[in-house]
Amino acid sequence: MNNKIAIFPGSFDPPTNGHLNIIIRALNLFPKIMVAVTNNLNKNHWFSLEERINFLEEITKNLKNVQILSFSGLLANYVKEKKIFIIIRGLRIVSDFEYELQMATINKKLNNDIETIFLIPDYSYSFLTSALIRELALLESDISNFIPKCIEKELKERAFLIKKKNLKVCKK
Ligand code: ADP
Repeated sequence: MNNKIAIFPGSFDPPTNGHLNIIIRALNLFPKIMVAVTNNLNKNHWFSLEERINFLEEITKNLKNVQILSFSGLLANYVKEKKIFIIIRGLRIVSDFEYELQMATINKKLNNDIETIFLIPDYSYSFLTSALIRELALLESDISNFIPKCIEKELKERAFLIKKKNLKVCKK
């Protein structure tokens, strides 16, 4: 069992400064962090798996000991396969707690070796979600404080395309 590596799973659609904050905090606790991007076909992502991986690689390129990969299926099976049993999750506002408690408990039931560790982000990111960022981008709000510069431009372009597509559907 590898208790030196921790895995940080999520959809990262797109990665935000909140995600980055958690990665940096986790690196203070563990010598290596694997960021695992979910390849969940049921979810309606704005960005493809490849795009989300590229974003994460770009924003962590100056951090040592961060590896970006993807997984599909059950996280409990994936960590077992990788022999990594420490899962990092971010805890934002109180409303995260119920879902996270459920996930941590079910993961423990599925695989008793798993420990989930919750990290609290800097308070300026405690209300930040990828969904909120996508909404703000659609509304053409300033998102520069919440998202890495290299993702901001791509997000604005994607919001523009989505709005254009929705307008066409409405006109039909
Ligand atoms: P999911 O779809 O599983 O919630 P996300 O990409 O939204 O995946 O989040 C992955 C992880 O990152 C989760 O543990 C989530 O709590 C954490 N996270 C996301 N945004 C923030 C933030 N602003 N501050 C701290 N943790 C965050």
